[in-house]
Amino acid sequence: MVSSRPQRPLRRADVSSPPSADPSLSGLSKSTLARLAKLGIGSRFDLVLHLPLRYDDETRIYPIAEVPPGRDVAVEASVVEAHVKYRPRRQLVCHVSDGTSVLSLRFFNFYTSQLKQLAPGTRLRVFGEIRHGFFGAEMVHPRYRVVREDTPVAQSLTPIYPTTAGLTQDALRRLIGHALKTCDLDDTLPEATVAALALPRFREAARLLHNPPPAVPQAELQQRRHPAWRRIKFDELLAQQLSMRLHHRRRRSAGAPALHPADKLTRAFVSRLPFVLTRAQSRALADIRNDLGQPYPMQRLLQGDVGSGKTVVAALAALQCVENGYQVAVMAPTEILAEQHYRKFAAWLDDLGVPVTWLAGSLRQKERRAALARVERGAAMVAIGTHALLQDEVRFHSLGLAVIDEQHRFGVHQRLALRMKGTQENRREQLHQLMMSATPIPRTLAMSYYADLDVSVIDELPPGRTPVATRLIGEARRDEVIRRVRDACVAGSQAYWVCPLIEESEALQLKTALDTYERLALTFPELKVGLVHGRMKGEEKTRVMQAFADGAIQLLVATTVIEVGVDVPNATLMVIEHAERMGLAQLHQLRGRVGRGAAASTCILLYANPLSDGARERLKIIYENQDGFEVARHDLRLRGPGELLGARQSGMPLLRFADLASDADLLDAARGTAESLLRDAPAAARAHLARWLGARAELLKA
Ligand code: ADP
Ligand code: MG
Repeated sequence: MVSSRPQRPLRRADVSSPPSADPSLSGLSKSTLARLAKLGIGSRFDLVLHLPLRYDDETRIYPIAEVPPGRDVAVEASVVEAHVKYRPRRQLVCHVSDGTSVLSLRFFNFYTSQLKQLAPGTRLRVFGEIRHGFFGAEMVHPRYRVVREDTPVAQSLTPIYPTTAGLTQDALRRLIGHALKTCDLDDTLPEATVAALALPRFREAARLLHNPPPAVPQAELQQRRHPAWRRIKFDELLAQQLSMRLHHRRRRSAGAPALHPADKLTRAFVSRLPFVLTRAQSRALADIRNDLGQPYPMQRLLQGDVGSGKTVVAALAALQCVENGYQVAVMAPTEILAEQHYRKFAAWLDDLGVPVTWLAGSLRQKERRAALARVERGAAMVAIGTHALLQDEVRFHSLGLAVIDEQHRFGVHQRLALRMKGTQENRREQLHQLMMSATPIPRTLAMSYYADLDVSVIDELPPGRTPVATRLIGEARRDEVIRRVRDACVAGSQAYWVCPLIEESEALQLKTALDTYERLALTFPELKVGLVHGRMKGEEKTRVMQAFADGAIQLLVATTVIEVGVDVPNATLMVIEHAERMGLAQLHQLRGRVGRGAAASTCILLYANPLSDGARERLKIIYENQDGFEVARHDLRLRGPGELLGARQSGMPLLRFADLASDADLLDAARGTAESLLRDAPAAARAHLARWLGARAELLKA
């Protein structure tokens, strides 16, 4: 009977019960609204999408004598007697019997009125787990209600919802039940689309998930693989794809200076490079050159593993912009990295007569004012720096391209702020953006969160690199590690020693770095040891990094400030202390600092026992995987997209239901459907977006 409900055809009642025109939660008390808001519920449709965490099965009543052990079950029994006991602790004890056996119910929090309610002979339906203790079978704090002999047994599983203090499950169930009756649950998708998906209709899916018939296997619900769950996830992914595509279209309708390849500077540049571009670099460059020539803004993400050679591609993009008389801003997340870019760009471009300017927070007033003036006059064609570039006083003469390295380290707002720098008062044009990332984003993530970006991938390392050998070594074998460092440096190589990460306190982090440095300077009296950490002044940092790059320092003790971008090809050994404390992306980035030259390199991960399960798994993954994309895939699996993207800070809407690691097939389907809806059924696309985004639609416009 009821189990056939999800598949039944539409009935008149469904069609004619008019969906309420008012989608709001009007009529509810202020305090209820506040509690719902805490759960992220602001409309009746949000209630429909407030899906259960799990279900209780009260559809089957067990005889007490036959209750299976170890799980929550329903029994029905009559009260024999109830009393309040004060020892060892105040409690209400109620003995019940169903003829097969007796059972004690024990409550530690109760109202005195409950005692009256539990008069002998009262029939109860009780739900909980039976334990067999010293006093026989008992349930502690079961859920119960008073029933009559003919009170019908539940016909569907009882949903248990995520909730918040002051909002009971019963209250939520009532609100959601009402929403299910009054909301418009008609399918937003055309009939043919639904049929092709082989998934239930939205209405059926929503109803089933809130009130599943007992025949539905609980495991399928729990693991969210039931077709009803898949339909909800599909709809969510479709909404995401649609909004991203619309965003993409809007961008195409904005103007930007068309920067046609002029080739004079670029050809000269390429002919002076000591190497030829890899095929992957050339392919990425071709994408970028084409984009820059369009009269609408480029937004391209250049992805490539650490050491794949993104910088030179960015420099070539910058030249194309400069050739057209427009300025370029290059922004990096740390001063060390920005400075390194500055050196590289200056070395490359000065020769060609392209003026490059350094703009960071640590500049002295006078130098800073001079740099700002050059940028504003247009005398500096390329400005390189940290987020200092975003400040109001930085005004460009004619900014055409922004290059953002390690883009995931910047929030959406910072990227927007940079984009605004290109908007001149008398021009409505936006600038082109090239974003770079060495934290490769798995395909599923790129397709969903970055659907608005065009992506180029450098999937090949420059020739002649030997892969980095990774070693896992326990603290107890420290001596061996010290020997290896000495051997490497004596043989003419250089090494990094990365200090343990102390997340709790910056002061402690600094102390640890200083201690490590002192200890290692004593351990290696014959080596020149240097230290670089995050609290150092910019100039000092530069001095140390330069000394290391020049070979004047052999062993560089460093905090994770060297995680991004540092490029010293003669460094072939890296030791990471307490590697078990670091995340996968961080370890991969750090390891990428070695293996940049032709010599074989090693990365030693020193760890301290005992290892947590998570740490053990991370170390195993980093040990077994060289490819950054593989590492990122595991990272996604372990941490989820929010952590990986820093999406919470950057304001990107996260997926609530779909899981990019396990629902890749649905994502593919949603992409296809989004495309065909926008082409063939724009009204359906609009309806779908309106349903899913509601008030959140605004967020996506950023
Ligand atoms: P990343 O992609 O990590 O930013 P970089 O741009 O810093 O990598 O490049 C890493 C190193 O490889 C640099 O020393 C760079 O000069 C060198 N490099 C870049 N492209 C090539 C190439 N095609 N052949 C040889 N070396 C290259
Ligand atoms: Mg780089």
